[in-house]
Amino acid sequence: MKVVNHVLHAEGSERIIHSESPNRSGPMSPDTIIIHYTSGRDAESSVESLSDPNVKASAHVVIARDGRIFQLIPFNIIAWHAGQSSYRFADGTMREGFNRFSIGIEIDNAGILTKSGNVYSAWFGRTYEEKDVLKAIHRNERTPRFWHRFTETQIAAVEELCRLLIKEYNIKHILGHEEISPGRKVDPGPAFPLDKLRDRILKQDRKTNEGNLIINFPSNGVVTTNKLNIRSDPNELGEKIARPLLQGTRVRVLSEANGWYRVAVEIEGWVAGKYVGVDQV
Ligand SMILES: [Zn+2]
Repeated sequence: MKVVNHVLHAEGSERIIHSESPNRSGPMSPDTIIIHYTSGRDAESSVESLSDPNVKASAHVVIARDGRIFQLIPFNIIAWHAGQSSYRFADGTMREGFNRFSIGIEIDNAGILTKSGNVYSAWFGRTYEEKDVLKAIHRNERTPRFWHRFTETQIAAVEELCRLLIKEYNIKHILGHEEISPGRKVDPGPAFPLDKLRDRILKQDRKTNEGNLIINFPSNGVVTTNKLNIRSDPNELGEKIARPLLQGTRVRVLSEANGWYRVAVEIEGWVAGKYVGVDQV
């Protein structure tokens, strides 16, 4: 699976299905992924409703229970999945209106089920077997409810897609709809392993700031590795613009991008952030 021109492709497979939703706005540069469940009957019906101009909702992709991925909107175009939303990040910054900078992943799932005898029913009337049901307490609630389980294939597809998007875009955060619209939304809910997924795939990003989440730029830093390349851009492909910085070199850390710090010595350039100890607030 790869992204070409902001659209998914998988050679020689029918795993990616291209569809079109008119429910979109202008261009954006995503830095966040928002995870949802559809609360629907199946992926096809959710794709249909998320493409209905009267519904005024959409998402970039819908992931079916068998792992097929429907893409409705290119990743660099605003989709309408988050609605009224806000979140305070670990560094204290507050953001609102997540549609403007996030990719919305909808996962086909019936959502909250109600139990009657041995039967679990969704709001749209379909019933589910006990093996497909998880009884659990939602992170925003206090009493357990019944939740439709996701398939292993779906969870693997979400992880694969998130890893790909992190590589393609400057994705820094993965959040559940329930976290940016608490009280209003409960998706993806406790049946989705959101915290585990985040730990697994954002760990490397987090390592930079591990335990010390607040940096006020500019800040002072010191090189903590033998030799540290200083580059023209915040990635391994950036041109080396000077001799490597030596261990113990004091630097002025000006900003951060994707785990890289822009530092000033006699010259300015980008170094791998993990090799710079930065004064913390
Ligand atoms: Zn949602």
